Amino acid sequence: MDITTILNAFGEQESEDYLSTVPAIIQSGNFAFRNTDALRAGFEDFYHHAVYTRGNNPTVAILRRKMAALEKAEDALIFGSGSAAIAASVLSCVKAGDHIISVGDPYSWTAHLFDKFLQRFGVQTDYVDGRQLEAFKKAIRPNTQLIYLESPNTMTFELQDLHAVATLAKAHHIKTICDNSYATPLNQNPIAMGIDMVVHSASKYIGGHSDVIAGILCGSEADMRRVFEGEFMTLGAVISPNDAWLLIRGLRTLSLRVQKSSENAQQLIRFLAEHPRILKVFHPFSPDNPQLELAKSQMSYCGGLFSILLSAESVAEVDAFVNRLKHFVLAASWGAYEALVLPNSIFYSTDGSGEHNRPYNLIRFYAGTGNPNILIEDLKMALSG
Ligand SMILES: *Cc1c(COP(=O)(O)O)cnc(C)c1O
Repeated sequence: MDITTILNAFGEQESEDYLSTVPAIIQSGNFAFRNTDALRAGFEDFYHHAVYTRGNNPTVAILRRKMAALEKAEDALIFGSGSAAIAASVLSCVKAGDHIISVGDPYSWTAHLFDKFLQRFGVQTDYVDGRQLEAFKKAIRPNTQLIYLESPNTMTFELQDLHAVATLAKAHHIKTICDNSYATPLNQNPIAMGIDMVVHSASKYIGGHSDVIAGILCGSEADMRRVFEGEFMTLGAVISPNDAWLLIRGLRTLSLRVQKSSENAQQLIRFLAEHPRILKVFHPFSPDNPQLELAKSQMSYCGGLFSILLSAESVAEVDAFVNRLKHFVLAASWGAYEALVLPNSIFYSTDGSGEHNRPYNLIRFYAGTGNPNILIEDLKMALSG
């Protein structure tokens, strides 16, 4: 199906009840039944019936259909945050005594789930260098139930060969999950490459306006039903109908925003790559990325996030550069309209002490959807200070 048709119209049959061009926000927690037979059917199968909004809701259902279509999946579940979608999908794959293989350096709260949380329930996680298929192979144990991927990650953008890892996992009856937040479903479809489940932080590109926290999980109907009847209904980290409606609205402009922020990023990168104070630029489509061919083969386009290594003697020097910037908001997150900067110097004390797996002079930028010339002038000024 055409992508713009999915973003603008597909799955919105509920609106036909009202002849509204925009779907209604059904802000109702509870749903009534006309007789006991209908109520019985609802309670027998929460997955297919709107009984209560912790399970199904008509506004949320529109978003589920759209996200499933975008990710070429059979179904999708919508969560109150990306972390909730990640936790629910991971928990659905393991029990005490099981083993997980994760790509190295995943999103920080995903690492927290593996290291601080699942350990308490007797689930062990090993991290591997996701650039090496061999590393996944070597890490497989008889009790490995899950391979967790994030391609690319959102700080230094290493990729995994999704088709190769999926094939390896299938041969060992191991489930695979891929965090696809960076690429969005427009630029990469891991399920089409054999991955079982895809997760998104919809708080980033899909919401796109820095005003919603939400998460999405996509996969086969069997997997989605299993997660729905287990972690989704039990842990209850659901989205409100109002926030689901904001995400549906976000989808209308998803392709425009992803494209504009990507073009902006490429303009900033062209400027930065030539600048003597920039030691290295990290971006999947950067010409000196050793994984460029893989990036081009599994992603149709890039995104507005990238990082640089700044030539700087100290944490204080990095901080000073960042503090001179006037047109980049100093903040976490990414994927909305505003240009952002997030220096890794904040993980060190100002005297340079402290330990972190990434260097103090690594700085992440998100290009946003504004005028790139203003951003380039801002960078020029801050770099010459
Ligand atoms: C932000 C983010 C998450 C977590 O999503 P929340 O919506 O903040 O819970 C997970 N993965 C990636 C890559 C992210 O950027």
